[in-house]
Amino acid sequence: MKKTIFALLAGATLSASFLATSVTAEAATLIHAGRLIDGTSNNPQQNVTIRIDGNEIVAIERGFSQASEGDTVVDMRHATVMPGFIDMHTHITSQLEPGSYMHRFTLNEADIAYRGQHFANITLQAGFTTVRDLGDSFGVSIALRNAINNGLVDGPRIFTSGKSLATTGGHADPTNGYRRGLVDTPSPADGVLNGPYEARQAVRARYQEGANVIKLTATGGVLSLADSGDNPQFMDDELAAIVAAARDYGMKVAVHAHGKDGMVRAIKAGVDSIEHGTYMDDEVFALMKEYGTYYVPTITAGKSVAERAEIEGYFPAQVRPKARAIGPLIQNTFSRAYAAGVKIAFGTDASVYDHGENAREFVYMVEAGMPPIEAIRSATYHASILLGQADRLGTIEVGKLADIVAVEGNPLDNIALLHDIHFVMKDGIIYKQP
Ligand SMILES: [Zn+2]
Repeated sequence: MKKTIFALLAGATLSASFLATSVTAEAATLIHAGRLIDGTSNNPQQNVTIRIDGNEIVAIERGFSQASEGDTVVDMRHATVMPGFIDMHTHITSQLEPGSYMHRFTLNEADIAYRGQHFANITLQAGFTTVRDLGDSFGVSIALRNAINNGLVDGPRIFTSGKSLATTGGHADPTNGYRRGLVDTPSPADGVLNGPYEARQAVRARYQEGANVIKLTATGGVLSLADSGDNPQFMDDELAAIVAAARDYGMKVAVHAHGKDGMVRAIKAGVDSIEHGTYMDDEVFALMKEYGTYYVPTITAGKSVAERAEIEGYFPAQVRPKARAIGPLIQNTFSRAYAAGVKIAFGTDASVYDHGENAREFVYMVEAGMPPIEAIRSATYHASILLGQADRLGTIEVGKLADIVAVEGNPLDNIALLHDIHFVMKDGIIYKQP
């Protein structure tokens, strides 16, 4: 409808009365932005109007445009307006808390779904209009994504991997820590695979369930009930099979990795991103630049698990030393990766710390040497590229979906302002305003 009207407006034969009827029938939303960081460049613009029709940005106009009758005006003249933030690493249906290692025995699927909906709403209110979910249970993030897309509940756009993939005993093997006989041996359908044939089956099972992306755990991890936090857990033929199968279905591959050997294998196999990346060194940075691999740092998760490891009894005994050793290192890894010129997309591992505090990552990135404007672009422009959604998301430009947030003051002077987002629009709908 909207496209038709603009085509007609462009034509010279249009009668004035038809034009008037058409425009009032399509009331617009005008955001008067004192400062606009549009995501496309490092240079903010001053005093512009963003014109939104339905769920789409249809014009960026100089100055504060007059509204026509029926239009909605959002006064952000004293604010900084930005594209909606994208967190490339969350687990939207779960949250670490004291005793959460018991959740696998106590929570039903419906419990997880209600919790996930709560966390999704908190995340949207914090200005994150899109998240990538990299590992859930029972496919709840897929159901939540669908419910949000169908307008049944509020939350960010979700792009999800569903169940993350592991080898037997690996970081995402859901049966780690159980006594023998309590559960069946997990299969590729459960996300556990060994060998290239099972790797293909595991990828295709995710496709069948409705996943958007493939997540695998290429090395040990901090929070799993297993000894090593960094050993390699996939072999070359398994990685190659996963990447090839994922490509057949147009899915990208995100890789959890702390140790170097696992990262090097994964990068050479052609995966799209390395998550956490704790023990990256210069050789890994060079390889990532050669292959165009993105780094998703999750500094917040590292800091948070290190803090919680100091609380007596918070983590099981097997987890605590890993949290202490790995957690504090990630911010320094990020600092070196940025200096080396590795592409960085914003990601936090929300669930390891409390949902809604995602903006902590911005502060840690700036602390570690990234200019505020680049940190914001890592959570908008760069994230949309890694997501494969750069044609619709990530910047404020004509033709993009209207995912827009704003904050009072100038986050380029004080990045911590991003903790206090006071305007949130997703898909042209306002979810939060002063
Ligand atoms: Zn994670």
